[in-house]
Amino acid sequence: MHKALILLCLGGAMFTTTVQAGCASPAFAGWLADFKAEAVAGGIKPAVLDKALAGLTPDSTVVNRDRSQQTFALDFLTFAAKKVNAGRLGQGKAQIKKQAALLGKIEREYGVPAEALTALWGLESDFGVVTGDFSTIRSLLTLAHDCRRPDMFRKELLAALSLVQKGDLTPAKMRGAWAGEIGQLQFLVSRYDQFAVDFDGDGHRDLIHSSADALASGARMLRDAGWQAGEPWLKEVKVPAKMDWMQARLDNKLPLEDWAAQGVTDADGSPLSGSGSAALLLPMGRNGPAFLAYPNFDAFLAWNESTVYSLTAAYFASRLAGAPALRSGNAPVRGLSMSETRQLQAKLQAQGYPITKVDGFIGEETRHAVRQVQQKLGLPADGYPDSELLARL
Ligand code: CA
Repeated sequence: MHKALILLCLGGAMFTTTVQAGCASPAFAGWLADFKAEAVAGGIKPAVLDKALAGLTPDSTVVNRDRSQQTFALDFLTFAAKKVNAGRLGQGKAQIKKQAALLGKIEREYGVPAEALTALWGLESDFGVVTGDFSTIRSLLTLAHDCRRPDMFRKELLAALSLVQKGDLTPAKMRGAWAGEIGQLQFLVSRYDQFAVDFDGDGHRDLIHSSADALASGARMLRDAGWQAGEPWLKEVKVPAKMDWMQARLDNKLPLEDWAAQGVTDADGSPLSGSGSAALLLPMGRNGPAFLAYPNFDAFLAWNESTVYSLTAAYFASRLAGAPALRSGNAPVRGLSMSETRQLQAKLQAQGYPITKVDGFIGEETRHAVRQVQQKLGLPADGYPDSELLARL
């Protein structure tokens, strides 16, 4: 999987990067000849290349989209409210009923429940309705030729040609999002080539037109990412006013008894129920919503490494499985803007904390550095930066 590409492409308009000025794309004809030679050397038949690439030129619409992505990041509560709305919840519940036979068969085969798949299906394409209408091969050709991120898209273009060669899709039928994600679960083409299964048995792996193929392929991907049948993935909880906030990290799974001993309760304040081990997630710090993320949550993270996206998908799945609407936490939370986050990251970097990217996104690296500096300054070390912390730095 290409993590950077997933960050850029999945999850809609949430993610973007600053366009780097000053790169120059090579002349197209020479680039294409070189690419074709590499494809043939990698096992793509010349006839497939001719069929798939005949007459194609870079699409300026795709380059313009790539250059003009809006830069903004939504916090978890805002993103979840936007994506897990009443309409999508109702549609999700209706689809679980409508597709009960198929989803049941998939669960028996892969161990992934209907709710998890349906949540991803809803977020990625509104249950197969919005899959995009760009020519995937032309989009990938454009972005592979463009100087900004040629290497990752060159791999994606080679994977697209591999799909054509295997007979899964014709070039004409291969249509999707402008940056090359494809089908009802908006897979990257490389992921498609790796994980897709022909679940309806028609001899083709068609993740665009076949819900059976798409959903089973999603289940296979989650299973391969470690999904354990019958196990929970996420549960909302309530945290006490004070605890060792350093413990609340994605990579720190503890037995539920340990969390209970530290004062964590069920969301309604009753004693913590359930068993097993889980990480305590505070996506917006100690005053925001709190969740226990079980090992199955890691499969959502493998789908999309953004915690905000993964948590939203897992929360959507939990709602489809009957969980109540989330509480918004103990107090209003105002996080930093992207530019404030960049200032904070730059200050942390200047003070020697391990920050490699000053990008305005609060990822695990930033949270880790924030915990360290909060602890040093005697602030509650919940890893969520606020204006007080920025001021103190
Ligand atoms: Ca099929």
